[in-house]
Amino acid sequence: MNNQGDILSTPVGYLKGVGPQRAELLKKELEIVTYEDLLNHFPFRYYDKTRITKVAEIRPDTEYVLLSGKIVNLFEEGQGRKRRLSATFYDETGSISLVWFQNLNWVTKNIEDYGQYVVFGKVTDFNGSYSITHPEVEPPSAAGTAPGMQPVYSSTARLTAMGISNRSFAKLTHALFSKITPQAIPEILPASILQEYQLMPRATAYHQIHFPADELQLQRARFRLKWEELFIMQMQIANLRLQHTVQPGFLFTKVGEYFNRFYNESLPFDLTGAQKRVLREIRTDTTTELQMNRLVQGDVGSGKTVVATMSMLLALDNGFQACLMAPTEILARQHYQSVSELLEPIGIKVAILTGTVKGKDRKAVLNGLADGSIQIVIGTHALIEDSVRFHNLGIAVVDEQHKFGVGQRARLWSKNTRAPHILVMTATPIPRTLAMTLYGDLEVSVIDELPPGRKPIKTIHRPDRYRAQVMGFLKEEIAKGRQVYIVYPLIEESEKIDYESLMAGYEQVKSWFPEHLYKIAMVHGRQDPEERKRNMDRFVKGQAHILVATTVIEVGVNVPNASVMLIESAERFGLSQLHQLRGRVGRGADQSFCILLTGSGISKESAERMQIMASSSDGFVIAEKDLEMRGPGDVYGTRQSGVLKLKVADIVKDVQIMEQCRNAASLIVRNDPKLLLPAHAALREALRAAAGQSHWNKIS
Ligand code: ADP
Ligand code: MG
Repeated sequence: MNNQGDILSTPVGYLKGVGPQRAELLKKELEIVTYEDLLNHFPFRYYDKTRITKVAEIRPDTEYVLLSGKIVNLFEEGQGRKRRLSATFYDETGSISLVWFQNLNWVTKNIEDYGQYVVFGKVTDFNGSYSITHPEVEPPSAAGTAPGMQPVYSSTARLTAMGISNRSFAKLTHALFSKITPQAIPEILPASILQEYQLMPRATAYHQIHFPADELQLQRARFRLKWEELFIMQMQIANLRLQHTVQPGFLFTKVGEYFNRFYNESLPFDLTGAQKRVLREIRTDTTTELQMNRLVQGDVGSGKTVVATMSMLLALDNGFQACLMAPTEILARQHYQSVSELLEPIGIKVAILTGTVKGKDRKAVLNGLADGSIQIVIGTHALIEDSVRFHNLGIAVVDEQHKFGVGQRARLWSKNTRAPHILVMTATPIPRTLAMTLYGDLEVSVIDELPPGRKPIKTIHRPDRYRAQVMGFLKEEIAKGRQVYIVYPLIEESEKIDYESLMAGYEQVKSWFPEHLYKIAMVHGRQDPEERKRNMDRFVKGQAHILVATTVIEVGVNVPNASVMLIESAERFGLSQLHQLRGRVGRGADQSFCILLTGSGISKESAERMQIMASSSDGFVIAEKDLEMRGPGDVYGTRQSGVLKLKVADIVKDVQIMEQCRNAASLIVRNDPKLLLPAHAALREALRAAAGQSHWNKIS
């Protein structure tokens, strides 16, 4: 390695202008410790100083401008904290005002009346007249020395107070580039890829993203860096896929008595074409000698649970046990109920294991699993605790995967001598591009057909002022013998405030539906599991007309007699969540309704969401829209978990790059799985360095 080899690990304190205090603050505020961190702190925008604008060209939507002309009429106004300086700037096409609230002395001393200046800043439109507050003002000669695009970095209030503002940040990056040479940023992509995809060299890209010569160079730099980022990710996924496919798996050679008896005697309906297709895919996976890792996507009510049940029967027919893991206690119980109803008639022993199963009961389940007398267990993440030992676990079904960490899924692997087959089910339809990333290591099946005879749910958006009418409608439905959900959003970060607003809502519901006429059950996150279960059971058994709930009922709950879903403050929910909630109704033979109650002055975007809900019932359409409107971090809750922490690339917008990367990565992994070729040496190093931060690598 040359002497530039590890210069990037130098602490930023070595840079001109960064003393110990600033270094400390950079670390605290932006996690910038080394040169490398600084290098990776990309500008979030650029001031285009490549072109001088005329005053007459300024429009209400104009942002930053570079102007050239004269400054006149500098004068001071106001007293004390309200003190400020104003001036008029003009060129041959018109004039605008300049305003300063700070550094007044500097301004008065340095700006000459009728002097010729180049002025740069953000235009504000104040009552129809334009002005620039705190413009950069330079004599024309000096301005010419820094043409091009000027980078703007994210900073923080505390850093700004220390003299590192969004704009002056560029000085730091500038100092950094004066210390390093291109060798400090060595190429990691193989030459063949650079050529095939026309990528800029790595060192050039890093330089250009900070100090672009022009718009085109900036685009090319971005493209290159996005490419690199997505490629590393796809390499990690490709590696993982490779490990999976070589992972030996259990053979389910037989379709035996359990499966056949269930299919011929117990199944109360015909399978849909989509269910049959997915079952065939699972069957194919489990008859090779490799471990299955399959994701089944299907809209709510598409019949995933039946598919899961039949997959578990395949395991039993071949002498294995099966488990089904759900994200919540409520869901686990509901699965337990429906699966045992389906399977106990054919003599299969199903058990439940959740956090509330304790003492003797728990012991009995643990023993039954260890000696093999329990064939199927359904539960929450209690199933992956170390104390749970299986006699011979052959398949693990994971419902609503995105609620679990990927690592939790991996822990299931260690529950037998070989990793059991894994079937992940999700009711959140995931657009293909995102599935490629979040579940890149899984094969994907889609149940894209609903069982026959379902009446489409009618979705209606009503502003708050129609509340009385809406409540009247609910009463009519209840009078017909139906049940109703009323759901409140989780609004605040604080559980306490949410709880209080739910209670206020509950009181209101009681005033519309007096207690002597209506039975109301309530479930929320603050209840202990037993109380929640008791309330839920009342609703499931038809003993309550109304279920008041927070979003704990979001997933999976199945009460066919419930025909109305009323969502309060619907504007506060994301599209996918609204769709999930709506999926709770429409499960019986009756016409079902989803009513979205909102405030009357909702934003344009909220109105659009309501409109999309009212016009579409296709989960995939809604998921795509949701992703478009909110971005993947919010939609899939992946932001905090860091799964999709991307620097430059955008999972939604950069689909094409992602496809390129995926192809390129599979090609490399196929031809040189261990990256032993000299052309791949730098890439191997880069992947190793990235491994520490990657969520995919933690799995295996
Ligand atoms: P999901 O888990 O995909 O939300 P479920 O498996 O819970 O869907 O099925 C929803 C409802 O539809 C259940 O009451 C189930 O019994 C029923 N169902 C599933 N498959 C079929 C089918 N092929 N024909 C008729 N009803 C079905
Ligand atoms: Mg389900």
